Amino acid sequence: MKAADSHEAMERMLSAYLDEELTQAEAQRVELHLQECASCRTALDEMRRIQQLTAQIPFHQPPDAALEAIEQRLSVQAPRRGGWALLVIGIAAWIVYGLVQVLRHPRWPTVPELIAAAVVIGLLLLFVSVLRQRLLERPHDRYRRVKR
Ligand SMILES: [Zn+2]
Repeated sequence: MKAADSHEAMERMLSAYLDEELTQAEAQRVELHLQECASCRTALDEMRRIQQLTAQIPFHQPPDAALEAIEQRLSVQAPRRGGWALLVIGIAAWIVYGLVQVLRHPRWPTVPELIAAAVVIGLLLLFVSVLRQRLLERPHDRYRRVKR
């Protein structure tokens, strides 16, 4: 028997053998040693069991799924924020435009102007109500969490 095939040398190679990191020749030497060494067989069995147990531990959340959730949230939130920003800018522009027109040429508004005013005021009311709801919900949640 060669010195490299000693029990100690084989024992050190067991984990690499289990992970299939050995060359074919090395693996064969380990297999030959395993046939005649009960101690190494037991050690290998133990390693296998530990490896199987580790493989069974479920991850908290697979990284891919977490990334997907973030991406989805971004792709939903980004257009929504853009929509809100445009809405706010549009409403503000209409109000400024309307005020300037009224101050420059005081007259009764035309029907299209009344319709535009109704749309702007309606959107403004919706916007304010959503904003109020958000502002009311946030501190309420925090207060509850602190209390419990
Ligand atoms: Zn051995």
